[in-house]
Amino acid sequence: MNFEEIQSGEQQYLMHTYGRFPAALVKGKGATAWGADGKEYIDFTSGIGVNSLGYCDEGWVQAVSNQAATIQHLSNLYYSPLQVDTAKMLCDLSGMDKVFLCNSGAEANECAIKIARKYSFDKYGKGRQKILTLQNSFHGRTVTTLAATGQDVFHNFFFPFTEGFDYILANDIEDFRKHLTEDVCAVFMELIQGEGGVLPLQQEFVQAVAKACAGQDVLLMIDEVQTGISRTGDVFCYQHYGIMPDVVTSAKGLGGGLPIGACLCTEKLQNVLSGGTHGTTFGGNPIACAAALEVLSRVSTPEFLTSVREKGEYIRSRLKEMPHVKDVRGQGLMIGIVTEKDNARQVASACVEAGLLILTAKTLLRLLPPLTISYEEIDKGLSILQTVLEAL
Ligand SMILES: *Cc1c(COP(=O)(O)O)cnc(C)c1O
Repeated sequence: MNFEEIQSGEQQYLMHTYGRFPAALVKGKGATAWGADGKEYIDFTSGIGVNSLGYCDEGWVQAVSNQAATIQHLSNLYYSPLQVDTAKMLCDLSGMDKVFLCNSGAEANECAIKIARKYSFDKYGKGRQKILTLQNSFHGRTVTTLAATGQDVFHNFFFPFTEGFDYILANDIEDFRKHLTEDVCAVFMELIQGEGGVLPLQQEFVQAVAKACAGQDVLLMIDEVQTGISRTGDVFCYQHYGIMPDVVTSAKGLGGGLPIGACLCTEKLQNVLSGGTHGTTFGGNPIACAAALEVLSRVSTPEFLTSVREKGEYIRSRLKEMPHVKDVRGQGLMIGIVTEKDNARQVASACVEAGLLILTAKTLLRLLPPLTISYEEIDKGLSILQTVLEAL
C-alpha cells in the first residue's frame, strides 16, 4: 500500500478518533523511521514515550522473539517466572514492595484508584473515598481515568462520570490544604504534567503534600506513566523529589513498544487487592514481560541515566538558541518548548513535512525522543527543527 491507499483505508475502516499527521511509518531503526513511500524521519517522539530503546533495538528484538518462540501467553490462573522477574526488578528499582501487571497507563491508574478506595474502605468504612488530582492533569481515557483527569474538556459526552474526584491547583499548597477534607483517601498526580504542557511540580509543593498525606493516612499516588522508566534521568521521577509515594503507576516506556503497565505499591497496601478483587486476561503477558525486562535492565544503569541527563541538557541548550523559542522546560529527555507564536500544531506539521516527528502538548512543542537516541540523530533532528522555526 502506498500512503494514499493507507490513508483512504484508514478513512474507511477505522474510527476517526485521532488527528493524524500525514505520515505512515512502516519501518524503523534507532531514532529513525521510514514512511510507506520511503521517506526518512528522525523520531523525537518514541511513539509518545513508548519506544524507550528506539526502533528495533537488537537486544530488545532478541528478547521478544525468543519469548514469542518459547511461550507467548498463559492465563493468570498459573504462575509465570517472567512476571516474577519483572515485578522484582520494578520493586528493586523503585523501593516499592508489590506489583500488579496490566496493559496500559489507564489500566495502571484504574488499579491505583481501586487500591486507594479499598484501602480506605477496609480501614475507615464508607464515605472516605475522595481522590484529589491536579487541574490540568492527564490520567487516561477510561470513564474513571477521564474523571480523574483535571481538565473540563475531557468531562463531556460520556455521562455519568465516576464520582469522587476533586481537582486542586498545581504548586498551590493553600488550595491543597483547603481540599484536604476528612473524606479524602488519596492524592494522585504527575510530577511533570505531560499532556498538560510539560509542567514540573515544585519540590516544596510535592514535599508539603507528601508530609500532609502521611500525617492523615491519605495515600500519595504518583502517575509515572509518562515520566517513569528513566525518561527524566532517574528511573522514576519521584526519586529526584525526595519523597516515597504509596503507589506508583507506570506504562508507556516500560515495554519498549509492547503494551505493558504496572501499578506498584508499598508494603502497607500489599494486601488491599485480595483474591478476586482485581484481574486482567492479558496483564503480565510473557512477551511483554520479556520486553520490559530488557528495557529495565538497560535503562537503569548509572551510565545510562547519566547519558539521558546529558542528552537532555544538550538538547535544551541547543533549543534555547533557536529562533522563536521563548522557553524550554522539562527534565532529562522529556522536553517542552514554548514558542513565541501560538502555533505548535503548525510547527509539528511542518516538521513532519521536513522529516522530523515531534509532539505537541497544549500550546507547546514536546520532545520525547528514544532514550538511546544518538547525538548524530539529535543533531539531524535539531537542524530540521531550526529550519522549520526559521521559516515560520
Ligand atoms: C499516556 C498517559 C496515560 C494513559 O496511558 P494509556 O496507556 O494511553 O492508557 C496516563 N497518565 C499519563 C501521565 C500519561 O501520560
